[in-house]
Amino acid sequence: MQFQDRYSRQILFPGIGPEGQRLLAEARVAIVGCGATGTCVASLLARAGVGSLLIIDRDYVEPSNLQRQTLFDEADAAESLPKAVAAARKITAFNSEVQVTAEVADLTPENAEPLLSQTDLGVILDATDNFETRYLINDWAVKCGKPWIYAAAVAAYAVTMNIIPGETACLSCIFPAPPEGTVETCDTAGILNSAVNWVGSIQATEAIKFLVGARDKLRRTLLSLDLWTNDGAEVAAARPRPDCQTCGRREFVHLAGERRPQITLCGRNSVQIHEHDRPVDFTEMSARLQPHGLVKHNDFVLKFWREPYEMTLFPDGRAIIKGTSDTAVARSLYARFIGS
Ligand SMILES: [Zn+2]
Repeated sequence: MQFQDRYSRQILFPGIGPEGQRLLAEARVAIVGCGATGTCVASLLARAGVGSLLIIDRDYVEPSNLQRQTLFDEADAAESLPKAVAAARKITAFNSEVQVTAEVADLTPENAEPLLSQTDLGVILDATDNFETRYLINDWAVKCGKPWIYAAAVAAYAVTMNIIPGETACLSCIFPAPPEGTVETCDTAGILNSAVNWVGSIQATEAIKFLVGARDKLRRTLLSLDLWTNDGAEVAAARPRPDCQTCGRREFVHLAGERRPQITLCGRNSVQIHEHDRPVDFTEMSARLQPHGLVKHNDFVLKFWREPYEMTLFPDGRAIIKGTSDTAVARSLYARFIGS
């Protein structure tokens, strides 16, 4: 397919033009999380001709994702494909010129550096669903001077902010500590697909401004909108807070210091276990689990059903156990069936 023809409507747009399109083709972008926001921005940026995408996601496709996660289909859910892998396949089908690297992993203090420094990233996009990972991205980005874009959506509400280290406020400048108490998530408050795609569209557009060098057009506020009530707000974020722990004092506590618990709640009724980094042979594991319940596996995940639990195992030994929010129960199931 001819480059000029494929991108002709975008090249016509004066903010991009032939030079902008060339810059996009050379650009590399990391997308952390590949749920609703991640699939939206990955689709938009791949269609816009961003040359290389690194997609990092720890999860697999489920039927309840299809309402809003626009790169996935029913076959992906039936196969329980890892989201990063399913996204890479879809992108290749509609734009084979884009180089997609799928990382089936949780972004952690241990792997942030090797994962995010493997390519010269133009911008990092936050498409995660938790503050822990956002602070980690913020630490890494401020430390390396990389721009990143915060985005979040829950129910009908969405919020986003560009972080340009050394210029604008960082995430810790605005939120010195994560919100306290029970934080609403898509699992508790639901989510409108339009709210996510609104914020994803803003995030993708700001990313393109970074990549084509339209720095004067970048928004320097924390922008939020409730798409149901139409209540919107913009909070100034153009200047860093001088006493900020991250960009002021340059103390990268999320990146360096505190190790994360290896057992974490993920979603309302599931627990993730990542205690060992050891390869699992799916064929051998299937044979071992067969007498204890239903087992299915493909190249990417092994699923094991034992009522009322559903265990999903990844090749590196990480597991997501559905059917409980009790970490002790999850740990004992893991120890009993996978190994301690
Ligand atoms: Zn700061």
